Amino acid sequence: MQSDTHDTRLFSCEFFPPKTPEGTANLRATLAALAALKPAFFSVTFGAGGSTREGTYDVIREIQAHGLQGAPHISCIGTTRAEVRGLLQAYQDIGVKRLVALRGDLPSGMVERGEFAYANELVAFIRETSGDTFHIEVAAYPEYHPEAPSPRVDLKNFKRKVAAGADSAITQYFYSAEAYLRFVQECAAEDVHIPIVPGIMPITNYRQLARFSDNCGAEIPRWIRKKLEEYQDDLTSLRAFGVDVVTHLCAVLLEHGAPGLHFYTLNKHQPTREIWKRLRL
Ligand code: FAD
Repeated sequence: MQSDTHDTRLFSCEFFPPKTPEGTANLRATLAALAALKPAFFSVTFGAGGSTREGTYDVIREIQAHGLQGAPHISCIGTTRAEVRGLLQAYQDIGVKRLVALRGDLPSGMVERGEFAYANELVAFIRETSGDTFHIEVAAYPEYHPEAPSPRVDLKNFKRKVAAGADSAITQYFYSAEAYLRFVQECAAEDVHIPIVPGIMPITNYRQLARFSDNCGAEIPRWIRKKLEEYQDDLTSLRAFGVDVVTHLCAVLLEHGAPGLHFYTLNKHQPTREIWKRLRL
């Protein structure tokens, strides 16, 4: 959100493509509620192997049709250059200006890796094919990517994406401000100076969060886990605690110079709106 001319920080929201008519209706309501906050863009996730390619495109088209900025995620694993070229053209045709370029993960059972091995190859391909048409976002991992053999190697691989032409990065979610701040410092020491925007995951459902975190390697600190376990099915207390913890995290990150915040909304508007309001963004 750049309402203040001196404020260059970027606030954005992420959706996933709904799979049912109820999900579509819910996302429309969420989009309307969050559009009122005037985020810089809305990104939409993409299932690896093309599983939600149409879903992503349809949601992006709808966002663009409302005069808002859509930022489709493109994951390259399991795809071909020709498919990506077609997708870039389709997005260009509806006025998309920003992409989130990812490797993605192969869905279980799928073995065909396609023509791209890593996200840096996708970034290079987008630059080759589309020049500067798109602002390219890439993923960053303050607690390191689960497959990386070491933090040093992961940082080197992150640097490859920047060298290939990434303009900025959005992080995996985390609950330790220290992890993010150190990661940004390490990037600067490696001469990587693109904006690295923290990805923020509101806390609304303990089991779901624990499952996500086990999959993606984002740590839920013990004290947060313990509190969430204690609330069990008392969702009102759990959500109030979640909003407190995440608002505090965001405030600390912004105080320490984070160049914005990217909210993983999970297609819900309440937690993001509440945090946004409390931060007085
Ligand atoms: P890469 O940057 O390619 O890194 C993957 C792994 O390979 C890392 O361990 C890295 O160290 C290593 N590596 C990278 N380059 C090289 C190289 N050249 N040589 C050797 N090793 C290398 N997933 C989806 O399926 N759909 C989405 O929409 C989606 N959106 C996301 C949005 C954000 C902001 C984030 C943080 C993640 C998202 N993910 C999404 C998850 C992401 O796809 C996974 O984390 C995936 O495992 C890695 O994708 P990447 O683009 O970070 O891969």
